[in-house]
This record gives sequence, C-alpha cells and structure tokens, in this order.
Amino acid sequence: MAASTLTGTGATPRSGLGTVVWYDPEITLPDADESVDVEAERDRFADAVDTARAELERERDATAERVGEDEAAIFDAHIQFLEDPTIEEAVVASIEEGRPAAHAVDDAFGVHIEQFEGMEGRMAERADDLRDVRDRLLRLLTGGDRVNLADLPEGSVVLAERLTPSDTAQLDPETVAGFATVTGGRTSHAAIFARSLALPAVVGLGEALNDVSEGTEVVVDGDAGELLVGPDEAEREAARAEEGADVVEESVETSDGREIEVAANVGRPAELEPAAARGADGVGLYRTEFLFLDRQSPPDEDEQYETVRDALDTFPDGRVVVRTLDIGGDKQIPYLDLPEEENPFLGERGIRRSLDPDAELFRTQLRALLRAAADGAGELNVMFPLVATVEELEAAIEAVDDAAADLADRGVDHERPSLGVMVETPSAVFMADEFARRVDFLSIGTNDLTQYVMAADRENERVGDLHDPTHPGVVRAIGRTVEQAHANDAWVGMCGEMAGNPDVTELLVGLGLDELSMSAVTVPDVKVAVSETEYSAARERADSARRVATRSELHETIQ
Ligand code: PEP
Ligand code: MG
Repeated sequence: MAASTLTGTGATPRSGLGTVVWYDPEITLPDADESVDVEAERDRFADAVDTARAELERERDATAERVGEDEAAIFDAHIQFLEDPTIEEAVVASIEEGRPAAHAVDDAFGVHIEQFEGMEGRMAERADDLRDVRDRLLRLLTGGDRVNLADLPEGSVVLAERLTPSDTAQLDPETVAGFATVTGGRTSHAAIFARSLALPAVVGLGEALNDVSEGTEVVVDGDAGELLVGPDEAEREAARAEEGADVVEESVETSDGREIEVAANVGRPAELEPAAARGADGVGLYRTEFLFLDRQSPPDEDEQYETVRDALDTFPDGRVVVRTLDIGGDKQIPYLDLPEEENPFLGERGIRRSLDPDAELFRTQLRALLRAAADGAGELNVMFPLVATVEELEAAIEAVDDAAADLADRGVDHERPSLGVMVETPSAVFMADEFARRVDFLSIGTNDLTQYVMAADRENERVGDLHDPTHPGVVRAIGRTVEQAHANDAWVGMCGEMAGNPDVTELLVGLGLDELSMSAVTVPDVKVAVSETEYSAARERADSARRVATRSELHETIQ
C-alpha cells in the first residue's frame, strides 16, 4: 500500500506513475535586507540576465519548431527588453543605492510596466511582455528554479495549486506522466484539456497536496480520483500496465437499432488524429478558443481556415461541429484585454463577446468557417456558445449571412454550414423551442448548464457535489431540451463532460439524445455502452428518471 493516499476528483480515467515537480507561478520577494553587498548583487543581476537570455533563446528555438516562426518572434522581443539599456541602468543604479538585486529589478521594471499600461492598444500589451521578463529574472534571483511546463523531464507529475488552460496546453503528454492540483473540478478547462490529451489527472485534492514534496514518487489515479504518494510495487505495476478499452471503429446503434453518433471534443489540430484513431464518428465540439491560447496574437483567417479544413479532411464521412469563439470565464487570453470582472462566469462570455467587443474576430472566424465548409471533405456544422436570448441567436445568424455576402461579393468560394446553438443556460432550456425553430441542431453543454442550473461554480471543489449533472434538476432540463428540439425538427446532441461517462449512457440515450460528444479517451467505452443499451427499455427508465425527486433516487433508477 502507498505511504499515503489523497482523494480528489479524477479528471482523466487514466493512471500515470512519475516524480513530483511543483509548479508555482507566484514569486515572493525576500525581505529587503538592510546591508547589501553591492558588488555581489551586481554580479547576481548580471548572471541572471545571462541565464535568462540563454533560456529565452532555447525557448525561441523550441517554439519555432513546435508552433511556428511567427509565434517564436515574441522571445526576440523579450530578449530586447532584457537587454534594454535604460532598464539595466536603472537596476544597477538601484543596487548601488543599496537595494537587493531582486527588489531593484522589481522597481525598475515596475516603472516601465506602469508606463505601458497607461497606453492604448498594442503598446499596452507590451506591459505583459515586460512582466514576463521581470518574472523570469525574479525567479532566477530568488532561487526559485523556473519550471518550464513545456520542457519537463520524462516521467514528471506536475503538482500545482491550480493550472490554467494555457498552462495545461503546454504539457507534452509524451513526457509528462500526469498532474494533480489543490483546487479545480472535473469540468474546469484544465481538466478538460487533460482529458483531451489523455493525460492522467486528479484535481481538487485540497491543501493536503501541499505536503507532497518535490521529487516524491506518486501515482496519479484518474479513475479513482486519487494520488498515491510513495506507491508500493503492485501499485506501480498497475499504473504501468494500464490499457484503454478496445477501439470500435464503426458507428454504433442500440440493440434495437437506434443509431447514436459518438463524436470527440477537440481543441487543437494535434487532437484530431488521436480522436479518429479512438473511433470517433466525427467532432461534436471543436473548442476554437483553444487555438487562441498560448500565443501572442490571434490566428488570421487563413490559419483558421486551414485548421477547420484539417478537421473536415480528418473526418471525410463524418460531421464536424465547430463552436465559435467562447472566450471569457476561465478562458482568459492576455492579448484580448479582457475586463476584470467580479463574476467572470456570469459576465462577458461566449457569444456575448463575439457580438460586441470581439465582433471583428467573429467576422474573421465566420469567413474562415464558410470557406472551409466549401473546400473540406466532411460536413461542417457551426454552433454558438452561451446563447441566452433569441436576439443573440438572430444577431449571430445575421453575422453568418453577412460573412456569406462578403465572400460572395469578393467571388470567394464558400458554403453556409448547418447552424446550431449550445444549451448552457437555464434561459436556453426554457427557450429551446424558439431556438430549435431557428437552427438545425442544439448541443447541450452540461458543464455550464449544471453550473447555472445548480448555482455551483464548475471550478470550485467545495460545491463539487452540487455541480453534478445527475441532480434531477439538470436531468429534467436535459429531458425538456431534447423534447423541444425534436418537436421542432432539430437534432440534439450533448457535448458537456456528462456525455463521456459510460455510466449514464443508457440514461442519455433514453432521454432521446441523437449524438454524444466527449474527450476522445472515453469514446470506446461509450460506444460499447451504446451497443449494450436497449432503446425502448432506456426510454422507460429515462421517463422515470425525469420524475424522481432526489439524486439518490435518480441513481437507483438508472443503475
Ligand atoms: C459545456 O459548458 O458543457 C461545454 C461543452 O463548454 P465548455 O466546457 O467549453 O464551457
Ligand atoms: Mg460551456
């Protein structure tokens, strides 16, 4: 048995064995000591600059290879800031006045960061670059080894207070054995990202995680939602030997002949082939905002066109559902200058941003989508996130028509894809009939729908019990949405994390869903669960499930 076992929430049903590497993006400055050895501090600063330069050059080359030359250019800008003579002189002058090097760096960069922050547009973005360079130097000066998430030693298990989606995006599943975090829930975007990378992960382990030290051997058991600290030989062996379910390549139907499409959720081009290899019939949710993370400026129309075309060509006989940009909430993109909000999940998110501050980005994206629809092999469907009103939906449809007219005027080949709406808000559930009359399909996003129906933050493990889509309130909302979609000739899918849980496949099929879309890692299990379901019996059980009063009754009904 392991020396100790911590319990949290499994994010990816996979296990990984490895060695702990702590990731801590926070920097704490040491107390400003009164007596400073000026010469020693000057040398420490010069050494830090040299090391930072070498790191930046390495990262620039790695990024050029992994992502592209354009994205790598940012590191050159950082090197320029690092070598900026005005800043350097200010740091040295401050050290000579008796400030420790770390404080001198903090002060000197602070002045320039403030100046840039006061400027407009692109210049304001430079403040972020300066912050990056300052933090790099501070990490070097305060002795904290800088953990580069993109370049971790083979077999690392990353432990952190929390990881952002862009932190997770940097992890390489070929080398990283898994991650575990103090906070976070199953549907936080870091967890979703982990699942799409098939990266073993457990989130919401609580403060006890802080007692696990760097270098300890651990097993991340994403199935049980546990972190085994100091595993024994049998536990190590079990983690090494783990294999996924057998892939089912063909489309599946229930034992009494109802076909259910089982598709994959993806966020980046690199996830397409693995999704096809795991037997996905198509893509049920392409989270396009993930293409905007981890870079310094948005992808242009051609790059977006290529990306979508790639998806359509990967599934030539399938359907690819691309969701338009869903920025906001926990998906922050520094170069878009998102407002600071008290309640970002109730703020400017999804379609709300696309219709107003990001209208130009939305237009560009729609043009790319319409062009790809004409040229790609598979069938493109486009859906809008976080729609709450008919007015928003109509404005989004109008934007599609405008993009088509614009391309037609310029004689560019394009095609208008089928359109859909995500059902993620209580309002969308109540308005599902109106939405279904205006589009071809609805797709239920249970991650947000559960959060808003239950008033339980999807990121907060303290209300994790409430953020559970098997509460009767959520199940009734799903049942109602499906009914309204079908009554108005729209098909209806589910792309929230609930769709990837084989324990509820029978319930979802019985509720009438036509499509289930999930992280590729669970596609084989759900395909098996669909084939083992008898639709007529599932329907009856689902009808009962829609009438129960408590979660435990619901669990009894669907067992
Ligand atoms: C959802 O809310 O269920 C969904 C699929 O969207 P996201 O998880 O990206 O918010
Ligand atoms: Mg959502």
